[in-house]
Amino acid sequence: MIHQTTCCYCGVGCGIVVRQEPNGRLTVEGDKEHPSNRGMLCSKGMNLHYTVMDQSDRLLYPQMRLNRSMPLQRVSWDTALERTAAVFRTLIQKYGPDSVAFYVSGQCLTEEYYLVNKLIKGFIGSNNIDTNSRLCMSSAVVGYKLSLGEDSVPVCYDDIEEADVFYVQGANPAWCHPIIWRRIEAHKAANPHVKIICVDPRRTDTARSSDLHLPIRPGTDIVLNNAIGRLLIEKGYIDDEFIVDHTDGFTAYREQVMQRTIDEAADICGINADDMHVAADWIGRSKGFLSLWTMGLNQSVVGVNKNLSLINLHLITGRIGKPGNGPFSLTGQPNAMGGREVGGLANVLPAHRDVTNAAHRAEVEAFWNSPVKIADKPGLTATEMFDALADDRLKAIWIINTNPLVSLPDLNAAENALKKARYVVVQDVSSRADTVAFADVVLPAAAWLEKEGTMTNAERRITYLPKVLNAPGEALPDAEIIWRFAQKMGFADAFSYNTAAEVYLEYTQITAGTNVDVTGVSYELLKAKRSVQWPYPAGGRGQGAGSGETGTKRLFTDQTFYTTNQRAQLHAVPDGNNSEPTDENFPLVLTTGRIRDQWHTMTKTGRVAKLNQHAPQPFLQIHPKDASDRGIQDGQLVEVKGRRGEVRVKAQITEDVRPGLCFLPMHWGKFLNSNLGRANNLTNALIDPRSKEPDFKFSAVEVTPY
Ligand code: SF4
Repeated sequence: MIHQTTCCYCGVGCGIVVRQEPNGRLTVEGDKEHPSNRGMLCSKGMNLHYTVMDQSDRLLYPQMRLNRSMPLQRVSWDTALERTAAVFRTLIQKYGPDSVAFYVSGQCLTEEYYLVNKLIKGFIGSNNIDTNSRLCMSSAVVGYKLSLGEDSVPVCYDDIEEADVFYVQGANPAWCHPIIWRRIEAHKAANPHVKIICVDPRRTDTARSSDLHLPIRPGTDIVLNNAIGRLLIEKGYIDDEFIVDHTDGFTAYREQVMQRTIDEAADICGINADDMHVAADWIGRSKGFLSLWTMGLNQSVVGVNKNLSLINLHLITGRIGKPGNGPFSLTGQPNAMGGREVGGLANVLPAHRDVTNAAHRAEVEAFWNSPVKIADKPGLTATEMFDALADDRLKAIWIINTNPLVSLPDLNAAENALKKARYVVVQDVSSRADTVAFADVVLPAAAWLEKEGTMTNAERRITYLPKVLNAPGEALPDAEIIWRFAQKMGFADAFSYNTAAEVYLEYTQITAGTNVDVTGVSYELLKAKRSVQWPYPAGGRGQGAGSGETGTKRLFTDQTFYTTNQRAQLHAVPDGNNSEPTDENFPLVLTTGRIRDQWHTMTKTGRVAKLNQHAPQPFLQIHPKDASDRGIQDGQLVEVKGRRGEVRVKAQITEDVRPGLCFLPMHWGKFLNSNLGRANNLTNALIDPRSKEPDFKFSAVEVTPY
């Protein structure tokens, strides 16, 4: 049997062909028919079948305990869900709907995201649902909304072959979005005039294969982008007609960027002023200017401003809505975008509606026939949920397919918060999730290939994922777990689904007339066409120039934006950084990130021997000068200490990090190495005030030989 599906790791969303042999053995290969990857897969995708065939860590049955000093005991689905419904009803009655919360994941399918969102916002009456995408994409979401009017990625992967300058800032696609990077490399190999600029304090593989590496000091991205903006203005590279006809805010922007000289900016960033001129000249003279970014911009206490400073460069040059041009935030998780579409964040409703907008709330209440009013304030975001558990404002949390005790910042505090929670539900595939130890109820979920549904990748492309295998034991698809629970809560009429297709059809109807209109999409269409890009309204075509039967390739091709007056907004952003200060006790800046062959908290990739070979253990990259100042030898065990905790790992002395900077991979947790390399013991709880995204890339630490 042959099945076409989508990779469940990153936001590139590669198509995969799964072959099932009569003896049950599975193989995977890249799907040549899928336009996102054209048959290519990275190391993680190529080894996906191992994670499916190794069932050793799977959660197989619902489990429950009446208090946490007791062991978890196997129970029936009815017992687990009825008890949970009883606890939720009691808490809601006693403390109000905001006493409960759901924390979900960019790994969830669109249908699952939609149902949890509907349940808590439309039927429980709280906006306390957030997702681990908060840790990843929320600064880009706010950046797009403030500049373009809505959370909408304007470009597509085919823009890669149309671009001649790539500005990669705070991202390492060579490791983290490898298939996109291979397309860029192939394009450059065929077109040697193509230039790649990489902005990163680390010399990553992306930096190594770039034409210009700008190794800026951590936290100075806005200074750099504003300086490039100034140079584009001074050198006459801006598009005056576009600015006048299609944007607001240019005068204030120009005043802001003129406040610093280029030499001053170069000094702050710690790079050569000449390199800033080179970058501005390449961007200014290009025909296609594509910028790509991820966590280096997003995971910052000024993440929204960083995003705006980059999008500004596209708006002053008019490089948006045209082939090969535009700002392209690379989505981290496979369905982070799908989750945003259906309203899986604490501040949004389906189809990018806003919880603070009365008309939007009324539309959704009417559509759902809600028995309660949708709350008019945003709910608790990811880190806020754990703060609220710690001080007992939040009583119960339901965690779905994410492992916050490895991925949240300031983990010792997060762990204490979960200990204090009155009721914890963990719905997951794997017993390796660090949260299981804190659960009152554990619900076994079906994994990739064991359920059907849809995902949206980084270029707004929706792909159907078929059910190929039966889930082991009594594991159920996440959507079914949620609709069964909603029925136990007394909402049987509104959650009387039998299939994921019914859920998806309902979701498509709520998008009618919005900028995310997918009323033309159905499972049948996706099976026939393999994938389409939204918007895709009823009628069977996407919108705008270059679009067709497979959907909308680019947004804003007619230069009208989603703002109220249809003009894009330039923002004069201050260039300061408000991260945790260093001092004589903690003089080094720690940044965290992914490594090539691991995914998130390693519950899947950590089980694949081939993938573990790349980096079997956590490590700390430190510059030779910083190592020598501290008497540290290469390979020596060191203690990395910050204001909230410490870790012990082996030092890797390398000039790939700037002096004053060190780097830890973010993947390892307690489950795998008893706290030794848990990077988020060290990260801080600061968040961007608008996106609520944590400041993972800048924590003050000291390193000493252990
Ligand atoms: Fe999967 Fe991303 Fe690798 Fe593609 S690039 S195979 S989506 S992990």
